[in-house]
Parts: sequence; structure tokens; C-alpha cells
Amino acid sequence: MARKFDAVILGAGAAGLMCAIEAGKRGRRVAVLERAEKIGKKILISGGGRCNFTNIYCTAENFISANPHFVKSALARYTQKNFIALVEKHRIPYHEKTLGQLFCDRAASDITQMLEEECRAAGVQIFLNQEIQEVRKATEFLVKTGPDEFRAPALVVAAGGLSIPKIGATSLGYEIARQFGVKIQKTRPALVPLTLNAKDQRNYFELSGVSMEVVAQTNGPAFREKMLITHRGLSGPAMLQVSSYWEPETPVSIDLAPGRKVISAVTQAKTRTESVLKNAFAGILPKRFADRWIELHQPKNWTNEALVEFEKSVHRWEVVPSGTEGYEKAEVTAGGVDTDELSSKTMECRNVPGLYFIGEVVDVTGHLGGFNFQWAWASGAAAGRSL
Ligand SMILES: Cc1cc2nc3c(=O)[nH]c(=O)nc-3n(C[C@H](O)[C@H](O)[C@H](O)COP(=O)(O)OP(=O)(O)OC[C@H]3O[C@@H](n4cnc5c(N)ncnc54)[C@H](O)[C@@H]3O)c2cc1C
Repeated sequence: MARKFDAVILGAGAAGLMCAIEAGKRGRRVAVLERAEKIGKKILISGGGRCNFTNIYCTAENFISANPHFVKSALARYTQKNFIALVEKHRIPYHEKTLGQLFCDRAASDITQMLEEECRAAGVQIFLNQEIQEVRKATEFLVKTGPDEFRAPALVVAAGGLSIPKIGATSLGYEIARQFGVKIQKTRPALVPLTLNAKDQRNYFELSGVSMEVVAQTNGPAFREKMLITHRGLSGPAMLQVSSYWEPETPVSIDLAPGRKVISAVTQAKTRTESVLKNAFAGILPKRFADRWIELHQPKNWTNEALVEFEKSVHRWEVVPSGTEGYEKAEVTAGGVDTDELSSKTMECRNVPGLYFIGEVVDVTGHLGGFNFQWAWASGAAAGRSL
């Protein structure tokens, strides 16, 4: 059966639903086609089940893209304040956890319910369990899903990235881009734990579960957040943040005691011993980590020079990760549809009128902290308002 709409949106995630709401509110007949049995599965698992839905301090600097200016227009026209107003209109209780990150007090399902209600009010039709078999363009776009056919003059691709295939991520968005000759920036897992080489793994795996505040940096800005040792490597917010900038075979520099001086107590001590050094780490590093660090970096003969070197090592642990934990564990996919191909105002393809890409499938990756959802809302609203 052929159904006719003003716009067909592929993917009922954060970006697709926001786009549908904005277009529906403007009287457009909108169909959202979703492969899963329910909407917003990633929203439901996000933020540890509480959805870090935006960030108070969101600016263009919180995003990685081949063109760092691309995000500005959409972010300015649908801001964090706009989304917070929507959350408040639905009386969803929320709180700031840290660094401007806003989370639901109750559960992420508050956000999916809100989006569902908004879709209903805007007359949006959502079709679940849709297996997309073919996408074509003649005078209009045609999307085939088994026995059904959806036709519309506009097609919005909001199918997300490759991260977490277990909950249904597919490469549909990139395939459609290729089909229509739209360029793609190479994709890679981002906001993902880093793995250590075999030697470092042997040295540190027993400390799995230990976490500490560090400053970490690689090929980009420095992040002062928690780092967590895992069985396979390094995780926690600081490492997830730098993973988005990390390039294979390059080091990550980690300051294990930011702003603190460790060796003063030792240089001033009558006798310079391991136990004095261990005590000097009290309140700076978790004991188990400090003990292992001293074991591996014992100052040679306890000379002044050796102690200075030791201090340097604490502030500049140069780790060359062996890799990442991949799309299975990545929160997002970096790279994607090249922003040069899109209008930054509407997300429409410059060379394929009526075809739009929004959300994670685009080469825009937010830092950890609610920025990826803010991009999904903002790019979704940008497209929805121009349909
Ligand atoms: C574990 C985890 C926690 C996260 N926590 C946060 C957080 O707290 N804050 C934050 O800002 N970001 C978070 N993120 C990132 C955030 O979830 C994404 O950036 C955001 O969901 C992207 O929105 P999107 O609409 O582009 O894609 P998605 O939300 O992934 O939506 C894409 C939709 O398209 C559907 N789809 C895919 N393929 C097909 C197909 N072939 N046919 C039809 N439909 C298809 C999918 O089922 C999905 O519903 C988290 C990610 C993960 C994995």
C-alpha cells in the first residue's frame, strides 16, 4: 500500500522525533519509520538510565567536526534553554549533576514519553518494526518497507551512528548517503574506553575499579575529570572525552595529580624512603594506585634529580593505548556525513534537494555531558522547521 506524506523520517531516535515534532507543529504530514519495536531506545539507556538530556553550558566548542563552525547556526536557533523549557512544560523533574549536565530525577522514559506526547499533539505518525528495503528518488522519495510504501517530497535520515549494534544501530544512514553520492568523513568509535598494551595491562589490571581525578589530553583540549582503571584499559569520563580525539599509535598524556606537588615531603624528610613517598600520596591518589606507581617508578637512589623525574612522571604519564573497545562500547560514532554537503541552517543536502541528514549520522560529535543530545535536538529542529 502506498502512503503519501509531506516528509518521511528514518529513525525514531532523539533527532528524528524532534524533527517530526517541529514539522508536525507546522502542519506537515509526517511519517517516522523505526526499525525497532519502540521509539528512542538509546534515550532509554542514556545517562545510566536517567538521560543527560542537555548541558547548561553548551557552545560550539563542545563539538568535534571537520568544520567546527557548522554547528553554530542550529545550536543558536534551538538552544539548551529551548529544550529545558520543553522538559519543564511537561513537568519532568531534573537536576544538574556536575559541569552543567542535566539529568532526569526519575528515569529517561520521562523524555521518550514527552517526545511521544509531543508527536501525538503534532499529528505525527510513527510506524514501528519497519524494515527498510529500498529508498529511491523519482519526482518524490519512495521508501519501501515490506508490503508498505511511503512517498514524500522530503526524506530525513535520522538513523544514528554505528555505536551499540546490540540495541539496533545500523549503517542505514551512511548507505543512503553513499547511494546519493553524499560524501562521508571516515567514521570511528568515540566516547569509548581505551585499551592498554599488554605490558601496561599486566601492570595495572589488578587495579580495575580504581578511579581518580586526572587531567587527560591527546590531539585536542585537556579534560579534568575522573579516570577509571578497567581490566582492559582506561575508562571514566576523562578517558571517554580524550578517546574522541585519539589517533592510533599516538600517546595520551595524563596528569595523575593535577595542581599538586608530591615530592616536597620526601625532599624535606630526614630519610628518604618508600613509606615517606607513599604517605606523600595520601589524599592525592588512591592508595592502591599510588603503591603500584611507586613500585614501577621507584626514584633511583632517591637523589634530588630522581625525585624531580618522579614528580614529572606523575604529571605526565604518557600512555600509548593499543586501541579502543570499539563500537560495542562507544557512546557515539565520530565522523559521518560530511558537513560540506549540508546546509548548516536546514541540514538539507546541497546537491540532493529534499534529502536531509540530522543527529549522530552527521560528522558532528559532542563531548560527554549532554552535548550529543543537544546536537540531536538542534539539528532535528533545524530540519523540522524547514520541511
Ligand atoms: C550507552 C549510551 C549512553 C549515552 N548517554 C548519553 C547522554 O546521557 N547524553 C547525551 O547527550 N548523549 C548520550 N549518548 C549519545 C546519544 O544517545 C546519541 O548521540 C543520540 O541518541 C543520537 O541521536 P540520533 O537520533 O541521531 O540517533 P539514535 O538516537 O541512535 O536514533 C536512531 C534511530 O534510528 C533507528 N534506526 C537505525 N537503523 C535503522 C534502520 N535501518 N531502519 C529504521 N530505523 C533505524 C534506531 O533504531 C534509532 O531509533 C549515549 C549513547 C549511548 C550508547
